[in-house]
Amino acid sequence: MSVKSFMSKMRNLAAFDFDHTIIELNSDAVIASTVQGGVPESVKNLHRNNGWTAYMQKIFELLNMEGYSEDFIRNTIIKLNPVCGMIDLIEELSSKFNYDVIIISDSNSYFIDAWLNNYDLKKCVLRVFTNPAQFKDNLLMIEPYHLQDYCDLSSKNLCKGQILQDFVAEQEKNGVLYDRIIYAGDGANDLCPILRLKIGDHAFVRNGFKLADIVKKVVNGDMKDKSENLYEIKAKIHYWTDALNILEKVRNIHDEINDS
Ligand SMILES: [Mg+2]
Ligand SMILES: [Zn+2]
Repeated sequence: MSVKSFMSKMRNLAAFDFDHTIIELNSDAVIASTVQGGVPESVKNLHRNNGWTAYMQKIFELLNMEGYSEDFIRNTIIKLNPVCGMIDLIEELSSKFNYDVIIISDSNSYFIDAWLNNYDLKKCVLRVFTNPAQFKDNLLMIEPYHLQDYCDLSSKNLCKGQILQDFVAEQEKNGVLYDRIIYAGDGANDLCPILRLKIGDHAFVRNGFKLADIVKKVVNGDMKDKSENLYEIKAKIHYWTDALNILEKVRNIHDEINDS
């Protein structure tokens, strides 16, 4: 096989968080902020005691009682701005650099589907892993993605690391082997998948958000698991502010590969 035809067989995987990574704001927070008079304290407690999807379900019920329609919620979501350069990044990863693009998010399938549709990005995104949601008579019904108790870095309803690992294994079974994985995120729940990346993979950690603080702690050897073992990130870490930073790094990574 020639070098060129071999190269064309190589596939890469890009996994993205959604809120504050693909879009500039947090979709759930934007929708919650439309509740008249603010979210009541009793509802906020649902998050702490019953988890994120229980909290969001209550928000959707409040909005439904206040008379907000599916159209209102949909229009609010599709108007959310992408992070600067993000549309180009996703399109280039998929069309130019041979990446399968997936999204792993604690938002919900209705929001992400509506938003991707509006930007005509669905053709570039292979899979979306998130809490399933659909409207029933103007009430959005949401369910947890899964219920897990094996990972204490992640919430009960979403272990992004396990989702990523399972997806890679599933692809491998189908004969799709990834040469390289890049992961981009901003939140505390993006640490788990980043810890599961390997040498040669790339972790894109957004500047000024929670994940950056946690990753710095891990790098400084200040974070241990339950059995007192230090957490370790094997992937190369890049800090980013907008998607142009990521695109530039991706181009560099692939230039280096083509040169070698
Ligand atoms: Mg996020
Ligand atoms: Zn996890």
